[in-house]
Amino acid sequence: MNSIRNEMTAVPQATLERWLTGPRVSALPAPSRDQSVPALSFEFFPPKTEVLETQLWACIRRLEPLAPRFVSVTYGAGGSTQARTHDTVARLVTETALTPAAHLTCVGSTRAEVDEVARSYWQSGVRHIVALRGDVPGGGSYEPHPDGYAYANDLVAGLRRIADFEVSVAAYPEGHPTATSPLADLESLKRKLDAGATRAITNYFFDNANFLRFLDLCLAAGITAPIVPGIMPVSNYSQAVKFSQISGVSVPAWMGHLFAGTENDAETRRMVAAVVAAEQVRQLQANGIDEFHFYTLNRPDLTYAIAHILGVRPKVAQDAA
Ligand SMILES: Cc1cc2nc3c(=O)[nH]c(=O)nc-3n(C[C@H](O)[C@H](O)[C@H](O)COP(=O)(O)OP(=O)(O)OC[C@H]3O[C@@H](n4cnc5c(N)ncnc54)[C@H](O)[C@@H]3O)c2cc1C
Repeated sequence: MNSIRNEMTAVPQATLERWLTGPRVSALPAPSRDQSVPALSFEFFPPKTEVLETQLWACIRRLEPLAPRFVSVTYGAGGSTQARTHDTVARLVTETALTPAAHLTCVGSTRAEVDEVARSYWQSGVRHIVALRGDVPGGGSYEPHPDGYAYANDLVAGLRRIADFEVSVAAYPEGHPTATSPLADLESLKRKLDAGATRAITNYFFDNANFLRFLDLCLAAGITAPIVPGIMPVSNYSQAVKFSQISGVSVPAWMGHLFAGTENDAETRRMVAAVVAAEQVRQLQANGIDEFHFYTLNRPDLTYAIAHILGVRPKVAQDAA
């Protein structure tokens, strides 16, 4: 009898039996025409060269019809891209129908200098700032400027004194790399929101469980402002791994498994990247998340495809339908 049982277990389960008794993957949402589509925002970085500027503007023009809630432009480490960030944001105001948000950091500048930049944004018609502490250029431990805003919450308060800016701030589902504890990090986020920020945009993450757990912790801490997940479609896996190590973002083993063998096969890598990001956003959508911030890296295609999967269609085509 035992030998018969052993033989039976060695035989692979029939498809029907696997379907009836095997592990289940919960259903992902199937967007329909009646379902409300999520709100999106896109992040760009200011270009260094004319070629990169052309690439950025091609990216902006491709994503513009998706009518994002806002598009944001980063500020290089230590304010190193101040003029380029300003020029890009000013051009967004004058040449597009998009609502721009300018990133602004405190590191290495006096309050007066930061206030001046903020005032010039207001005068250019910019009404939304992503307020950040920033990092020391080239690494090294952070020391507040003696006459500067020490932390992002101080900057938020300063901006609110200057003008009626909408202010977004950063959040870290897996903790900021230098945070003394998860609780200290949560308290820091709460200080930024209490100082007048109305939204937190998270650092990117790959493991949705970490983000959803973070939402629970925010809720328990009394945070009610929207926490918008930052989504980074991975176009270069090995670079993403290196960057994630520095920024304290975990890369699940399954991702390594999915990208393994695609190092010299850009086309397959892009398809895998699209699947990974699409699955990530659809699982978040299934958990009730209805707002997403995309780190586009100034490349539109993956972001555009994932937005499409989320049910977002070009505004003109949608209006005509
Ligand atoms: C969505 C997003 C956009 C970003 N854009 C840019 C950009 O454009 N340019 C750029 O240079 N960087 C950018 N960054 C990176 C960011 O500047 C760094 O992560 C920086 O190290 C922290 O900035 P913060 O605003 O989160 O800092 P803070 O909120 O000030 O926190 C930084 C650290 O200090 C701790 N802290 C806060 N307040 C205090 C206090 N009073 N005393 C002691 N410790 C405290 C916090 O717990 C945390 O560990 C971005 C990050 C995100 C998530």
